[in-house]
Amino acid sequence: MATTKLPAQADDFPAWYVEVVRRAELAEHGPAKGSMIIRPHGYAIWEHTQRALDDRFKATGHENVYFPLLIPMSLLDKEADHVEGFAPQVAVVTRGGGEELEEPLAIRPTSESIIWSTYKRWIQSYRDLPLLYNQWANVLRWEMRTRLFLRTSEFLWQEGHTAHASADEATAEALQMLEVYRQVAEDVLAIPVHQGRKSAGERFPGAVETYCIEGLMRDAKALQCGTSHFLGQNFAKAYDVTFLNADGELEHAWATSWGFSTRMVGATIMAHGDDAGLRLPPAVAPVQTVIVPIYRSDQERATVLGVAEHLRADLAERGIRVRLDDRDQHRPGFKFAEWELKGVPIRIELGPRDVEGGKAVLATRSDGSKHESPLDGLASGMADRLASVQAGLFADALAYREANTHEIESFESFATGVEERGGFWVGAWCGEAACEAEISTRTKATIRFLPLEVRDPVAACVHCGKPGTEVATWARAY
Ligand SMILES: [Zn+2]
Repeated sequence: MATTKLPAQADDFPAWYVEVVRRAELAEHGPAKGSMIIRPHGYAIWEHTQRALDDRFKATGHENVYFPLLIPMSLLDKEADHVEGFAPQVAVVTRGGGEELEEPLAIRPTSESIIWSTYKRWIQSYRDLPLLYNQWANVLRWEMRTRLFLRTSEFLWQEGHTAHASADEATAEALQMLEVYRQVAEDVLAIPVHQGRKSAGERFPGAVETYCIEGLMRDAKALQCGTSHFLGQNFAKAYDVTFLNADGELEHAWATSWGFSTRMVGATIMAHGDDAGLRLPPAVAPVQTVIVPIYRSDQERATVLGVAEHLRADLAERGIRVRLDDRDQHRPGFKFAEWELKGVPIRIELGPRDVEGGKAVLATRSDGSKHESPLDGLASGMADRLASVQAGLFADALAYREANTHEIESFESFATGVEERGGFWVGAWCGEAACEAEISTRTKATIRFLPLEVRDPVAACVHCGKPGTEVATWARAY
């Protein structure tokens, strides 16, 4: 456990991240390069995130399905942009049962191909539409440079795949799911995000439009937090998915897909953590409050643990995720540091004198504050305290983002600023891919998003000076 301090975020953010993931027992590298073992404290954060998403998927009319991990190569090869985009990252199984396979099998990097080849059989008439399906799955995309949660070859996610009778309906669906992602990022993970469109160069392979939510981490680097794609009729054409419309005419179906992954566990670590470790939003904290009993003699132990257990049961009954840390082998100071590292939002310290006075000491992880609270009413007030911690973390992250968002005044100030300070940089862009690529080469920043609705910047492109056609937000990103 934590015997030495974590690296300071300001000194070496990547080292801080590696250490906090390891010491807070969130995850570790698996034996195969690029793979990840998710430990209980990390997996529980994902489970709470999953539930928040799944409840919202169901509330918006979606159902869960499951498609196979292995995809015949001939299926994957049908949508040209899609296969070109994913080809370098696809792992292929060529042997099975001790023999060469007749047809190699791809391990899914995403499931559009297998799902749309199946939709061909499920969609005949406009009455079959829409199909509003989602699957929870693992996918594999070969990665050379990996970082736990943020970029690993195999990761967990959900992928929604819907089919519609019209372009408008599919676009509305893609935007609806982007809004669901915004809600989960902001209301559950307490990470403020921008909603926007990707530039053509940053689009999902095979998409007509890629919508995204983008967050800013505490090292002033951006992170793509979720994407929702309007796929047009590209996949329906590639997999020959047609339906008879209400006028009896044959049409190709319109598609969306949308994904949110375990990368967001990494985002939660990086958007809120500090030099003492994690600061977890209560909505996803595996332990929301921990009771640490303080005692010296056996008699004190009996008295304090009696009251502590009563308090634990009371909190649990109210639906609070509570732990009573009654481990005898560790001193209270050690336990305080461990739960701080693990990001538990509220710690309850309970000693013999507190018990005598009918009170406890509450330490709030997010702002480091400590104060006494009467035992009477402590459990019933806990949900409100946690809600205020949740709101405080969001406010902190929002203030950080505002402080790190800049208008581009000149290309030079942008290039220097993004190098020295990171952050979001907003300015006019001509809309040309070549100019975008040049800016990226010179600044190592990419367009994180364009506004959902095209907005005239009424200014010249910050780089080439041609008339601006889009307002682009740039950043260096994970
Ligand atoms: Zn330009």
